Amino acid sequence: MLIDGFNREVDYLRISVTERCNFRCQYCMPDKPFSWKPKENLLSFEDMFLFVKAGIDEGIKKIRITGGEPLLREDLDKFIKMIHDYDSSVDLALTTNAYLLPKVAQKLKDAGLKRVNISLDSLKPEVAKQIAQKDVLKDVLEGIDKAIEVGLKVKINMVPLKGINDNEIVDILEFCKQRDIEVRYIEYMENAIAKDDLKGLYGREILTQIERKHIVSKIGRIGSSPSFSYKTKDGYKFGMIDPHKHDFCETCNRIRLTAEGFLIPCLYFEDAMSIKEAVKNKDIQKAVEILKIVLKNKPEKNKWSEDDTETSSRAFYETGG
Ligand code: SAM
Ligand code: SF4
Repeated sequence: MLIDGFNREVDYLRISVTERCNFRCQYCMPDKPFSWKPKENLLSFEDMFLFVKAGIDEGIKKIRITGGEPLLREDLDKFIKMIHDYDSSVDLALTTNAYLLPKVAQKLKDAGLKRVNISLDSLKPEVAKQIAQKDVLKDVLEGIDKAIEVGLKVKINMVPLKGINDNEIVDILEFCKQRDIEVRYIEYMENAIAKDDLKGLYGREILTQIERKHIVSKIGRIGSSPSFSYKTKDGYKFGMIDPHKHDFCETCNRIRLTAEGFLIPCLYFEDAMSIKEAVKNKDIQKAVEILKIVLKNKPEKNKWSEDDTETSSRAFYETGG
């Protein structure tokens, strides 16, 4: 079992397999051109897997693959299969913009993927295009359909933005309700990389819009999830991730690995350590030692602040959201 310095059990590993993306979402990585770190810096899936195996042996039970856009990375299905074949009880999930999902959903499911969280910020082609800075909606919707069709458990993530997609909060709820998939609204987190004039909605404002159409009751936070669950009178369950009000740190069970091999104890905390050398040298004991140091250094609380986006900034695309 992995325990951090504040007695929290850490059993959830989030892996960002690439910082690159085929979208340029206004809240994440709006500016082009963009200087990517060289591909040679990336950890290979074989090296990543050595660390993943050690992590599972030490107590990791849930793994989420994210990015950047994880579907841009070749052989992702093979990486998923390696993990699944090693321990099929690991809860294996993926977060994606779904643009490339129609072609690979079946392959990922066959490899052992169980769940997929898909970002869907608008049902209007021109608004989706405005947010992602690319004409994406048709492919994203096909990706959602395909994921459902092949039997992946799907959740939708929406980031409501003032004056852009905040009139679609209920529409997205209805879209998800019709397909019996959960939507989770994520408050926009201010950061120095996002477009300057962007404003998000607070969780309370999002709920108010839903309550104009539905009678909503609270369910609560389930386990270590950052999402607070609600349900409509007819039993449809949806979630709210509201970091402006809650910091989720008390029950944090996660640790992050970047595409370049840095283990990050907490978002908005610079104390990351690299496992790259250790796994390249097949020195698993060393990698586990580093994991334990990083866990010991995991701070009690994150230092993100809505008003101080410079010092508390991080690149969502690098750490995986
Ligand atoms: N490319 C994939 C996607 O968009 O789903 C995975 C990576 S993305 C960084 C993971 C999640 O972070 C997405 O749900 C996205 O909406 C969210 N995200 C990115 N920037 C954000 C911000 N500034 N505030 C809140 N959520 C953000
Ligand atoms: Fe790409 Fe996801 Fe960031 Fe959008 S939120 S730019 S899809 S990594």
